Amino acid sequence: MTEREVNARRPHAVVIGGGITGLAAARLLLRGGARVTVLEGSPRIGGKLRVSEIAGLPVDEGAESMLARRPEGLELVRDLGRAGDLVHPGTTSSAIFSHGALRPLPSGQVMGVPTDLAALARAQVLSPKGLARVPLDLVLPATPRGAADVSVADYVGARLGREAVDRLVEPLLGGVYAGRVEKLSFEATMASVAAASRGHRSLIAAVRGLRQGASDNTGPVFASLPDGLGALPHLVADAITAEGGTIRTDAMVRELRRTPTGWRLTVGPARDPEYLEADAVVVAVPAAPAARLLADEVPAASRELARIDYASMAIVTLVYPVSAFPRLPRVSGYLVPAVENRDVKAVTFSSIKWPHLRRNAPDLIAVRCSLGRYGEEHTLQRDDEDLRAAAVTELAATCGLTELPVASRVTRWGGGLPQYNVGHADVVARIRAAVAGQPGLAVAGAAYDGLGVPACIATARAAATRVLEHLDSRGELRHGNGEGEQAQGARPEPGDPLHDVVGLPGEDAR
Ligand SMILES: Cc1cc2nc3c(=O)[nH]c(=O)nc-3n(C[C@H](O)[C@H](O)[C@H](O)COP(=O)(O)OP(=O)(O)OC[C@H]3O[C@@H](n4cnc5c(N)ncnc54)[C@H](O)[C@@H]3O)c2cc1C
Repeated sequence: MTEREVNARRPHAVVIGGGITGLAAARLLLRGGARVTVLEGSPRIGGKLRVSEIAGLPVDEGAESMLARRPEGLELVRDLGRAGDLVHPGTTSSAIFSHGALRPLPSGQVMGVPTDLAALARAQVLSPKGLARVPLDLVLPATPRGAADVSVADYVGARLGREAVDRLVEPLLGGVYAGRVEKLSFEATMASVAAASRGHRSLIAAVRGLRQGASDNTGPVFASLPDGLGALPHLVADAITAEGGTIRTDAMVRELRRTPTGWRLTVGPARDPEYLEADAVVVAVPAAPAARLLADEVPAASRELARIDYASMAIVTLVYPVSAFPRLPRVSGYLVPAVENRDVKAVTFSSIKWPHLRRNAPDLIAVRCSLGRYGEEHTLQRDDEDLRAAAVTELAATCGLTELPVASRVTRWGGGLPQYNVGHADVVARIRAAVAGQPGLAVAGAAYDGLGVPACIATARAAATRVLEHLDSRGELRHGNGEGEQAQGARPEPGDPLHDVVGLPGEDAR
């Protein structure tokens, strides 16, 4: 038999979605012995990972750093033979714009929950009244909480007072989810803190215990690539094609149907559809398209997926001459609480955070401003020029900039960030239970167990494992070389309890 004939006889696994999740899953399926096709609906792969040049510098338009204290992202890079390329931030210290000025993020906090009350007082993020309320947590009786999930605002507010929620916790969670603390799930967005709090009356004591129990990992907290994190999907895609997989762009999947032996996908425009047969399918797209794809065959999962809301945001990237800064920032960026009523919710001084950018262009400072929170669509219903002006005004006010940027770019991420609202874990459990009844089908991506890149890769591993187990049980699999990253047996791992969130400015992950 020729190699081509052997290949044709391998079971066919189709991955829907060419973001980092879909690509990571595809690579593992390929290595597990399947014939693999990735179908990406847009003209380009990468999804929320995208990088382009601005003023000659490669600056990410979407995700820009991944947590280095969860293993999955680094393992993927290592497996691609690129571990030596990894770059790490020059500084991870950050600030909060609170009560009209930039203040240091108090040391010792975990997702905004303080553990060092002296450091909290020194930071002056809270008003004297707000500050005085925080230590009451140490003496107040336990906050009643059954098995049911609660919102971040309800639980943390009951323990630390509303101002600590608004000016410490909200900006940190806002940086990750662009969400509302009144809606976000305490259990899903602050998982390690929520779990620790079940064993303590005081939230501060719980988080102190969490920090003491955390691993002594003193390595870098975040990582990226010299050409931006947006280069990662292309490296994975190159490896997939080199190993015989197929990646198609402009291949929108519109329908998924069961067949007696597997699945049939309808791809492309309604007037000219193409049908593709698959033995197994990984659905690695955001919740809304996943809900549409599963509507016919797995309606229970589809209904639950449709409940997962998304927030839209925009990233305005500005490049300034270094001379525009009266003083160079010493922090990687700052966060702006929603109660400050400003358009910009977070700022990353990219050239300060990533020393390689500064080395390559010592006279330029690239800055990324993010705008848009869940429920604040009006912020984004303005043209690019307005968004650019809002970002320029913000930086002039907080950094005293005296010159205009030499280059700018506006990137919009409509429906970019899933909202892990109260009850999210139950929603995900119901989706998984419904999908579990469908042989050869798996779901993966940012909508489920964490939206950070490593968490997405963890769901890709679990999905690939499920699919390979199914194909193996049918005796169809010719096993791959089994080197490097493993799919078999992989499960989403929470990793280090302090580091299960995405890495955006303001996280004190020490
Ligand atoms: C602005 C921004 C900044 C972020 N910053 C960070 C950060 O610094 N660190 C971090 O860890 N995380 C960050 N995140 C989160 C992280 O980037 C995402 O959660 C992650 O990249 C999602 O990957 P994914 O592959 O699951 O989904 P996506 O990237 O959304 O990819 C899904 C793909 O599926 C395709 N698709 C959709 N429907 C179909 C269909 N019917 N047929 C075929 N294809 C389809 C889409 O076109 C898309 O390419 C950020 C997110 C945003 C928006």
